[in-house]
Amino acid sequence: MMGKVLWQGLKRLVEYDKDIMRLHGELALLAKKYQDIKDRCACVQNKRETLDREYKDLEKAIAAGELDARSLRSAQQAKQVQLDSAQSQREVQALESELALLSERCKIAEDAVLVLYHKHDECSKQRMQCDKDFENSQTKVLEEGDVFKREYDRRVRDLEQFELDRQTLFARIPPEWAQKYERMRKSVEDPIVPVINNCCSSCYYGVLHHDLSQLKRHMIVSCRNCYRLLYLDEQEAIELQKACF
Ligand SMILES: [Zn+2]
Repeated sequence: MMGKVLWQGLKRLVEYDKDIMRLHGELALLAKKYQDIKDRCACVQNKRETLDREYKDLEKAIAAGELDARSLRSAQQAKQVQLDSAQSQREVQALESELALLSERCKIAEDAVLVLYHKHDECSKQRMQCDKDFENSQTKVLEEGDVFKREYDRRVRDLEQFELDRQTLFARIPPEWAQKYERMRKSVEDPIVPVINNCCSSCYYGVLHHDLSQLKRHMIVSCRNCYRLLYLDEQEAIELQKACF
């Protein structure tokens, strides 16, 4: 590869490298987007499990609370029987006071059960909503999974093709320029730029007369300031010049 073909080849290499970089970026973005969807689904699932535990705990608490209220109510009834058959005024007073206490405790226990029932209802509604959310997010994971796989595979295929084409092209470039290109590529996005108005179009450093005559013979030179590879394309230089004004 020589002269004009060489710098055109290097420019094509820049295009391949940009495409390869873009595809890597797109693949990472796709993977992240899909992971976010899966994470959201896992989050809903966790919430559902938490609600399930809460629901079961409330059921247990209601059963215990009802048992407590029932035994207090029985105690209250037994005390009432005692009171009904009380003999002395003193005994009546003592039993009435005990009965009042039991009645208060019974009311507290029954109120607590009511509060638990209310929480149980709320939890039940939340569980139903969460089940729907989980179903929707699972459907979304499946649907997006198909899209993701298609889009991902397509880019992987493109990437493989670009890498293969780049490899073929790279092998045809003389090692001296291939190495210079690879070195520059690590530090700048545009390792090869045209000469405009006898200057490097990237850093505007003037091209020496000797280098210019080489450029006019379609050869490549390195910019003596920024080390980018320079080429001269009279037509492109005229167009770029026009675009600047
Ligand atoms: Zn330069």
